[in-house]
Amino acid sequence: MKWERHRQSSNVEDRRGQGLAGRGIGIGTVIVALIGGLLFGVDPLTMLSLLAGGGAIQEQGPAPAPPPDDRHAAFVSTVLADTEDVWAGLMQHEGTVYRAPKVVLFRGATVTACGRGSAAMGPFYCPDDERIYIDLDFFDTLENRLGATGDFAQAYVISHEVGHHVQNLLGISDRVNRLRGRASQAEANSLSVRVELQADCLAGVWAFHSQKSKGWLEQGDIDEALNAAAQIGDDSLQRKTQGTVVPETFTHGTGAQRVGWFTRGLKSGKLMRCNTLETGQL
Ligand SMILES: [Zn+2]
Repeated sequence: MKWERHRQSSNVEDRRGQGLAGRGIGIGTVIVALIGGLLFGVDPLTMLSLLAGGGAIQEQGPAPAPPPDDRHAAFVSTVLADTEDVWAGLMQHEGTVYRAPKVVLFRGATVTACGRGSAAMGPFYCPDDERIYIDLDFFDTLENRLGATGDFAQAYVISHEVGHHVQNLLGISDRVNRLRGRASQAEANSLSVRVELQADCLAGVWAFHSQKSKGWLEQGDIDEALNAAAQIGDDSLQRKTQGTVVPETFTHGTGAQRVGWFTRGLKSGKLMRCNTLETGQL
């Protein structure tokens, strides 16, 4: 991906220098939880229940922008800036104004409006403060432990989280939350899969428009995203961690489903192609 020298977003907050628990959570815990499959966008709904009970925590003060020579942060800022451009255009088309989310870079643990956020959850989106939380070490895990290499694999992760923000703006998260209130655990899991696959599809929609306007993808980039989607499917993760696959416990969809929905967004560039909530066949 030829990402250098493009606009960087001013919506990135760098909390890596601020300690909440810092590394206190223990890298062992982080790895166990990551590999345990809480990975990659604990969905916003699960997120709320996971974090509930975090108790009263002080809001952290405003965080500075990342230092300009930080290459990883620059990459995140550049991809985020492009999601702002693409989604502002698409939302205008839908008759709404796009309110850009902020991205918070943190280490170990941090305070969110949804409660205490931890790196062990993988990157996640909190609808209550419209922020995406990323511990950049996750990208090492993605590459070294999950076999998802390449910068566009990371761009896919970021745009998937932005997809959750779009779901929030469109009122989809609220709608699903209401359904979830009266659902059994199995139904709740299946709703979660639909929400996650839709975020994958929205990531694909972004990639379509991003490439159309910037032409910055290189040979192999799309394969990096597809490979990442396959590697972080519930089936691949469960096979890696527990040796067996239990479909009723899926919350994000199989690798093949994630690849399928990302591709659907990518090929069409159309939001209406991402209706995972009403389709019979995922
Ligand atoms: Zn997600």
